[in-house]
Amino acid sequence: MSIRGYSPAEPAWTGTANALSRGFGVLGDEWTLFLLRFALLGCRRYTEFSSRMPISHAVLSGRLEALVKAGLMERHEYQQRPPRAEYLLTDSGRATWPILAAIWGWERTWVDEHSYETPPMRHVTCGNEITPVLVCRECHQPVGVQDLDTAWGPSGGWRSSVPEVTTRRRSSTRGTAVGHTFYPDTMAIFGNRWSWALMGAALLGVRRFSEFESALGLPPSLLSSRLSTLREHGILDQVTGESSAERPEYRLTEKGLAFFPVIAMTIGWAERWFDTGDGPALVQTHRSCGAEFHGVLACDHCGEDLRGTSIDLSALDETT
Ligand SMILES: [Zn+2]
Ligand SMILES: [Zn+2]
Repeated sequence: MSIRGYSPAEPAWTGTANALSRGFGVLGDEWTLFLLRFALLGCRRYTEFSSRMPISHAVLSGRLEALVKAGLMERHEYQQRPPRAEYLLTDSGRATWPILAAIWGWERTWVDEHSYETPPMRHVTCGNEITPVLVCRECHQPVGVQDLDTAWGPSGGWRSSVPEVTTRRRSSTRGTAVGHTFYPDTMAIFGNRWSWALMGAALLGVRRFSEFESALGLPPSLLSSRLSTLREHGILDQVTGESSAERPEYRLTEKGLAFFPVIAMTIGWAERWFDTGDGPALVQTHRSCGAEFHGVLACDHCGEDLRGTSIDLSALDETT
């Protein structure tokens, strides 16, 4: 397999989950994304969360506990009889805002039907309704996956990067009181431990079934079901060759390629907050400026870097 911009050589597998596995593992859950979204809007107390989502007591307390355990929230008891706690975002929890903003922008641009409203996001500094753009922190030019050279770092490799199995993944539809998911397209990529790895491989230029199979080492039946899900959501296309002997290729659609900012911001966040001390999982270079790539989100109107405090997300609070 020869892919421009991607060096497939992997470090030896140490049997440990790296930062990407941990970070994608924490965020690969729809309720968790919703909880973070409301927490970023200022919700702290149990009832502030429960009144905004059709969520059962067991699911909500389980997710809050998982967020505390992963270090994204801190639990503070503010009353003892009866015991009442509030959940405050830590620095790593607050640092998820660019991921949510990137998801929001992608959903608004590429997903037609929503089971919830997707009000516009406003840049407070320039006053415009915006879609965040991924740019290089160094040169501030917009960046797509094709502009980067990617290699595995010391803690990299596919096996170390796939989230470990957890039981909560199953609840993506069943745990939803209304019987469907709010972000079906995003969750097609995020909500399954293999899907984001598949997406990563596709972004790096992996095309054929056998290449996905050997890169990720997952069973063919599972691979084929994950590929179908991504096709159903319009993220991958199956392209058949001219002769029947030629194997079909799986290529990202425009919609699939446009998901890259979400992946890039999640990788940056995971490497920063789930650092295992063994060095980075991925080393990416922005080819045109030569700098090590770190992505930031910028305003598509005024070009300024976005900050958590410079986006008006208040419209989000009126939904669900
Ligand atoms: Zn650059
Ligand atoms: Zn702006």
